[in-house]
Formats: sequence, structure tokens, C-alpha cells
Amino acid sequence: MIYKTGKEFVKTQKEDLFDQDPLPPLPYDKLNEIYNIKKYLGKTFLGEKTLAYHSSIGCPFTCSFCAVVPIFEARWKAKSAQTVYNDVKYIKDKWGADAIEFHDNNFFVSEKRTVEFAKLIKPEKMSWWGMARIDTMDKFSDASLALIREAGCKIIFFGAESGNNLILDQLDKGGTQTGDQIIRFAERLKKFDIIPEYSFVLGTPAPTAKQVEAQIDFEIDFIKKVKAVNPRTEIVLYTYSPVPSEGSALFKQVEAAGFKYPKVLEDWISPAWENFDLRKNPLTPWLTPEMIGKIQNFETVLNGVYPTVTDIRLSRIKRKAIQLVAGMRYKVNVYNYPYEIKLLQKVWKYRQPEIQGF
Ligand code: SF4
Repeated sequence: MIYKTGKEFVKTQKEDLFDQDPLPPLPYDKLNEIYNIKKYLGKTFLGEKTLAYHSSIGCPFTCSFCAVVPIFEARWKAKSAQTVYNDVKYIKDKWGADAIEFHDNNFFVSEKRTVEFAKLIKPEKMSWWGMARIDTMDKFSDASLALIREAGCKIIFFGAESGNNLILDQLDKGGTQTGDQIIRFAERLKKFDIIPEYSFVLGTPAPTAKQVEAQIDFEIDFIKKVKAVNPRTEIVLYTYSPVPSEGSALFKQVEAAGFKYPKVLEDWISPAWENFDLRKNPLTPWLTPEMIGKIQNFETVLNGVYPTVTDIRLSRIKRKAIQLVAGMRYKVNVYNYPYEIKLLQKVWKYRQPEIQGF
């Protein structure tokens, strides 16, 4: 904690992360006295009453584009499978939750904990979702993946980031993830009927504008390859927004390219930075409006051909209509001015998980 006494700034020592199991149980009943818990249990793709839950804090990795890293510095502490199950079961029995979204930064760090939880939750017939790394989960055995699906896990979010191994290095993705593995793993999950939800970060810096553009084109082709091996893969696109991960090679590259981070507290909460933080309106010096347009237009066409399964209001007929309109563009790689798709998405209030929540 940093605070000011008089003219002096005081910086306290960083605490270790707490062990999670000995912490007092979350006071759901107390919360319910103030605000009806049932109102927190929303209807989603997963179920009628979806519980949002954090079963761990932090992440053991240090990807240089990720805001989790400066906060947790490669630390991860998790509740045991039994504690998570007890909480979920309590909310299910008391308030009728039938689905869970695990909002942990990295739910699937430990195969052992995941398998233990899957065994406990399986008889409860609940659907669930969480976030993971591809290289971590690719080490899970077939038996574990099969059990996870049988236990109700329908969809898993993965930061694929890039199909380009040089960019994966640049992003300091850590671990062993490669472009080939991203494709192979999408195919592997198809076997288990688990939907991979892959997010990609397009628009990372490069020495020349031509190289930046070539990188974007590469990712577009790569995403189409992923879709070809497993069309149910959900694709979430972000435009790269620098994170102040001081000391990383990417941080130096970003500063050298002329990018300026906010200097005072007010700037961090300004609408301009908020937009930037949502990775939708980048102001990075190496991206031209044409490049940003290309990324956004591709995203519109892609979402037209493959509308997200998480949009539960979009009927089958509407899906078919958008697919019909967008399909030809996708096939012949024409993404410019996709106004007809945008119009349908606007009229039918198409849902984008990266903006409206997963
Ligand atoms: S694995 Fe995911 S949560 Fe962990 S540091 Fe990398 S991007 Fe962030």
C-alpha cells in the first residue's frame, strides 16, 4: 500500500498471498440480507442461474502484456477442490445455481485440483466455464479432459494470443506454447466436446509498418486455420494495448516506438484510457487507422460467419441469415466495409463476450 502523510509518501511492504482455505467462508447469507443473491445468478449460455466464482488468485506466469503480472508477480494461491465444491454446493442448494463461471485468472493451473473438483461436482449436473493456458491443459491426460467434460465443463477460455512463434516470444507467453500447438489443441478438444474459446492479440509492434501489417495478415490466416480444424472454436479478438510491465523487452520496445503511458492518476481513469483498456480503440503509434480497420472488419465478418454460442438471444434463423451474408466475404477474403453484417448485428443486438462479459 502506498499512502501520503503530510508531504511524505509511505510504501508498505508487499504481503504474501494468503493461503485460501483457512480464510473465513464467504458471507453469502450476509450479502443476501442486503441484496437478494438470486439477482446475482444470471441466465447465460451455461445455465438459467449462473454463479460467478473465484477459486484462486493470481497466476504463476509472467506474460509481458498481461495486467495480472504486475499485481501478483507470478504468484498463485488456490482454494482446495473441496472448499470450492462446498461453496458451490451451498449456493446451488440454497439459491438454485445451476452453472458456474470461474473468473480466476487461471483456473486450470493444477491438473490434480481440477480433476478432484470435477469428481466432486459431476453428480451435481452443473455446467461450468473457466480460463486456462493451452500449454498447461495440453499436458492434461485424455482421461482428465474426458472427466472434466463429463463433470459439466462446456467451454474453456484460452489466451492463444498469436499463431506466430516470434510474437509469442515477444509477448513472453512463457511455458511451451507454439502456433502448431494452438491448432493441434483446438482439434484435440473437439474430441472431448469442450469448446475452446481462443483470444488473440493483434497489432503488436514491429520495426516497420510493413511488418506490422504482415503480422496482422498472418494472424487472420492463422485464425482461419484454427476455424478450419475446429469450427466451434470461439474466437475473441483484441487489439494490443501496452501494459506497463516495466523491465520486459516488450515494455522497452513500446516506449521506443513512442508510446506514452498515463502520468497521473486521473489519466488512468480518463474515458480515452478506458477505451484503450478495453483494447478496442488503440492509440499506439505503430498502428494506422487502416490497420485497425482491417482488424475490426475481419472481426465483424468472422463473427458473422461464426456467431458466438454465448449469444443466447440470437435465434437459429438469425444465425443462418448473418452466416449467409458474411460467408462469401469470408471465403474470398474480402473484409472491407462490412456494413450489411454490422447492420444485422446492430439490429439483433449481437453479443460480443469480450465487451459484455464471458
Ligand atoms: S497465463 Fe494468462 S493470466 Fe497468466 S500471466 Fe499469462 S496471460 Fe496473464
